[in-house]
Amino acid sequence: MVEAESQGGVSIRGLRFSYDRGFAIEVARLDVAAGEQVLFAGASGCGKSTLLHLIAGIETPEAGSILVRGTDICALRGSTRDTFRGRHVGMVFQTFQLLQGFTALENVMLSLMLGAPTLDQPRVRAEAALERLGMRDVHAPVDRLSVGQQQRVAVARAVVTEPSVVLADEPTASLDPANAEAAVELIRSAARVAGAALIVTSHDPALRRVFTRTVDVSQFGVAAAAGRKGAAR
Ligand code: ADP
Ligand code: MG
Repeated sequence: MVEAESQGGVSIRGLRFSYDRGFAIEVARLDVAAGEQVLFAGASGCGKSTLLHLIAGIETPEAGSILVRGTDICALRGSTRDTFRGRHVGMVFQTFQLLQGFTALENVMLSLMLGAPTLDQPRVRAEAALERLGMRDVHAPVDRLSVGQQQRVAVARAVVTEPSVVLADEPTASLDPANAEAAVELIRSAARVAGAALIVTSHDPALRRVFTRTVDVSQFGVAAAAGRKGAAR
């Protein structure tokens, strides 16, 4: 069942990656089904961001495949990979990484026009995404928004392209516990509405009770010497 559903989600096989002579990760098999919501948990430094970057095609593995809606993102090169990421992967960063000097609406519209140029009526779609997330003042420059509002813009930007998978890296790390839970609910409901699979990373064990499935990323870490064939000891 997971096999069939993972056509629309993420499917990892035989993955091996290491930073130059440093931290190494191996994932024999990992599936996130279409529309599924999963927490990638584990202590700081266990490889959560690394695994997310591999799924997004920001890093390239030494071996293995990562299917995103049936396409091996690792096999795509250069601008083809960037185009695929823009169209099918939505990303929410801990520090939001919004374009300063632009309005909330412009930030979301730019994501849409660059990432999914074939989707019509970018302005209408961007406005609707922001409205669904409770953002009223869409013409405010993002640097004048509160942290909570900036997070809404970041989430709208990630889902407006109707991606297959949304990746949120430590989205609650800069928030207090009450706001953290609300932020996760916001991301979860936005991903659900967009029909996207969702992977959230967090070092905070409190989030485990919010997700029905948790993947412990520390299980994938391998000793540096074993992770690279012929690596210097
Ligand atoms: P997490 O997100 O779980 O905190 P990371 O994936 O950021 O963990 O990092 C995993 C390990 O890889 C850490 O030991 C970190 O120091 C190392 N690391 C992260 N990025 C790089 C990099 N660009 N080059 C070399 N080592 C890195
Ligand atoms: Mg991290």
